[in-house]
Amino acid sequence: MVKENLEKIRQTISEGVRLVAVSKYHPIPDLQEAYDAGQRIFGESHVQELQSKYEALPKDIEWHFIGHLQTNKVKYIAPYISLIHSVDTFKLLHEINKQAQKHSRQIDCLLQLHIAQEETKYGFTPEELAAQLNEYDLEQMQGVRIVGIMCMASNTDDEQQIEREFTHARQCYEQIRDRFFANKPYFREISMGMSGDYLIAQRCGSTLVRVGSSIFGMRNYGHN
Ligand SMILES: *Cc1c(COP(=O)(O)O)cnc(C)c1O
Repeated sequence: MVKENLEKIRQTISEGVRLVAVSKYHPIPDLQEAYDAGQRIFGESHVQELQSKYEALPKDIEWHFIGHLQTNKVKYIAPYISLIHSVDTFKLLHEINKQAQKHSRQIDCLLQLHIAQEETKYGFTPEELAAQLNEYDLEQMQGVRIVGIMCMASNTDDEQQIEREFTHARQCYEQIRDRFFANKPYFREISMGMSGDYLIAQRCGSTLVRVGSSIFGMRNYGHN
């Protein structure tokens, strides 16, 4: 089923948008099936689970970390992670910088914006983010490269609300880009959209959609 689902989703992905197959909680054979169907970008949200999948699967996979990342776990993924979507504090960014340099790498990161109504989601408010970017000298952090922002919309059926939130996120992205990354063409990514809302996210300017259950089916939280 994974192959068929993937092919269906691909037909709906806009030009210039990359599909991250969110494989958390799904077993390795399902990822292999997606790989065999040509998928190369996979998103995971738990370090241990990512480690075992990284070791078992082909090395040309581009692994993205999309969940809340604890500072003390950065060291495990620093040798190979391609993109960390969920940088939600500058303390975490500093640790990624340090671990990347240990491996002579520069790790691409997205700053997670808190746009949704819900209290529980991680991330910076737009004001917090601007204040922090003002305070830190990113040029000093050779181990990280900030390539854009990530956000999640509220968990709601109200499509107009979702569209308002994604539009707001894109406007925040543009303001941050113009103010802090004006001469940095690599600051070009907006990671937004999941199975339920990626079509809306694409209309609002997403460049990376993170789709899990529409490809792999329901997650079984009992295993893993
Ligand atoms: C799990 C997860 C997704 C994928 O969600 P689906 O609804 O299964 O597509 C996307 N983004 C983040 C941050 C996630 O944790």
